[in-house]
Amino acid sequence: MLLIGSHVGFRKDSQLLGSLQEALSYHANTFMFYTGAPQNTSRYPIQDGLTIEALSLMKDAKIDYSKVVVHAPYIINLANDKDPDKFMFSVRFLQEELERCELLGIKSLVLHPGSHVGLGVDTAISNIAKGLNMILGTHDVTILLETMAGKGTEVGSSLEEIKRIIDLVDDKEHIGVCIDTCHLNDAGYDMSKFDDFLDQFDSLIGIRKIGCVHVNDSKNLLGAHKDRHENIGFGTIGFDNLISIIYNERLEDVPKILETPYVDREYAPYKYEIEMIRNKEFDSGILDKIRKQA
Ligand code: FE
Ligand code: FE
Ligand code: ZN
Repeated sequence: MLLIGSHVGFRKDSQLLGSLQEALSYHANTFMFYTGAPQNTSRYPIQDGLTIEALSLMKDAKIDYSKVVVHAPYIINLANDKDPDKFMFSVRFLQEELERCELLGIKSLVLHPGSHVGLGVDTAISNIAKGLNMILGTHDVTILLETMAGKGTEVGSSLEEIKRIIDLVDDKEHIGVCIDTCHLNDAGYDMSKFDDFLDQFDSLIGIRKIGCVHVNDSKNLLGAHKDRHENIGFGTIGFDNLISIIYNERLEDVPKILETPYVDREYAPYKYEIEMIRNKEFDSGILDKIRKQA
């Protein structure tokens, strides 16, 4: 069965219950959320009452909770150890994030590998592995390293770099990968040849390590190293290629998460994009529909 959803909010007052209700309003059967604002590290305590309510509602809605994922905030950077205090702040925050995941019953945490900020890729990779080795295995949560576009000094824009990090991680059971179609395109992987990409992934890392797929179109050309997401069917990857990826049998059990932009920065597109994906038919008027029905 197709597992399709989007990233959703996580608010102080409604927490997991609110996230679930937002996902259900999009007719999604999975979702991803940040445990607070994506761009900062201020977090509220998890309220178990809301979690319990959400879990029972998910049972009724037949949502496979083991596939729901959390995304760590972007500002966490394990690659940079220039300032040891900042590095340890990232490690501690991630440790707390694993604890929050455990309280919420979440099994997978998506993490950007980080940016080397001039230290070079080799140092960055060893720093990332060092940070991960301090926290992995303390909780039954798997960290999924996200493939990046290669913007600035981002690490993890090639499968080789992702593999090098994984090779240095001690607890192989709790490390995996989240592939992002926009990032892969911008990093230079041709999404119109997705099976070739999967073959390459499988021989380097092992296809079973893929724990999440971020499904986004891209505003930029193959290899642009930009990272600007576009709505499904409106970018350079295109609707047909994204549909082939979403329905690829080799990734059937892997959740597909939309992180496409809000229309006019205001209207969530996910209900409409999910419908279009289920119909497997591109609707070029979808953005106007979203504006009107919002
Ligand atoms: Fe991400
Ligand atoms: Fe992503
Ligand atoms: Zn991105």
